Amino acid sequence: MSEIRKVGVIGAGTMGNGIAHVFARAGFTVRLCEVEQRFLDRGLETIRKNMAREVAKDKLTQAEMDAALGRIKGTLERASLIDCDFMVEAATERFEVKRAIFSELHAILPPDVIMASNTSSISITKLAAQTGRPERVIGMHFFNPVPVMKLVEVIRGLQTSQQTYDTVKTLAEKVGKTPVEVNDAPGFVSNRVLMPLLNEAMYAVMEGVATPEAVDEVFKLGMAHPMGPLTLADFIGLDVCLDIMRVLQDGLGDPKYRPCPLLIRMVDAGWLGRKSGRGFYQYS
Ligand code: NAD
Repeated sequence: MSEIRKVGVIGAGTMGNGIAHVFARAGFTVRLCEVEQRFLDRGLETIRKNMAREVAKDKLTQAEMDAALGRIKGTLERASLIDCDFMVEAATERFEVKRAIFSELHAILPPDVIMASNTSSISITKLAAQTGRPERVIGMHFFNPVPVMKLVEVIRGLQTSQQTYDTVKTLAEKVGKTPVEVNDAPGFVSNRVLMPLLNEAMYAVMEGVATPEAVDEVFKLGMAHPMGPLTLADFIGLDVCLDIMRVLQDGLGDPKYRPCPLLIRMVDAGWLGRKSGRGFYQYS
């Protein structure tokens, strides 16, 4: 396979703009693809602001920022990814959305190009089966905020080849991350372990064991977590937490993965956490 220089990133939301940021900062040319101009503009503006913050903290020079921004080109045309050497998808967490992207891009991209997904919970094995190159499909699971968090879970689907794994592991290192190898299973490792913790914290609140503030204090002061589980759930988005619990429940079948009824009610009410202004806490 030829050297990877140009990377296609699908989706310029929370994760996509962060992924574009780290690839551009590491010297790759990036084609950032969205469905609407306003989402693209918002993603590009976020990258600019986040890079400016890195300049203010002396993590990047102004010249490096200008060069990195110059390497990112936005597009609304998926066909313009035709000359990319690698792609990572960070679109909405819906199987149907990702299925359409993977099957369409398989038809556009040269056959040796690796197609990665940043999905939090969708089966890489199932996504791989939507393409004619299942051995070149893999999970590259970044963490939020992408420019800051060191981890990338590199998820092998059943069909993923060793060469694909090795290439993505090296790529993750090139963008300054630490890859950890994980096999495809519902929630991978991160969400398989984290989400039941958050869900259980919600049960504790629902059952009146403690207030959200008290639960969070226990984890911050007793376990040295940088933020408590309910603050973290609000940060991730309660709708996202619920979707992931349902993936664990469906995929693993054990009743211990039952989503907390309080979580379901809050999502029904539109209390989605920080992004909607209200979750376990209120945000102005
Ligand atoms: P988001 O809603 O902030 O952004 C998704 C973006 O994808 C939107 O801007 C949307 O317009 C765009 N999009 C949808 N369909 C598209 C298409 N066909 N082509 C191009 N763009 C398209 O979501 P997010 O939080 O950035 O999550 C993206 C992915 O990353 C999901 O799979 C999610 O599970 C995963 N993820 C999220 C987090 C997190 O903390 N937010 C962490 C790790 C992984």
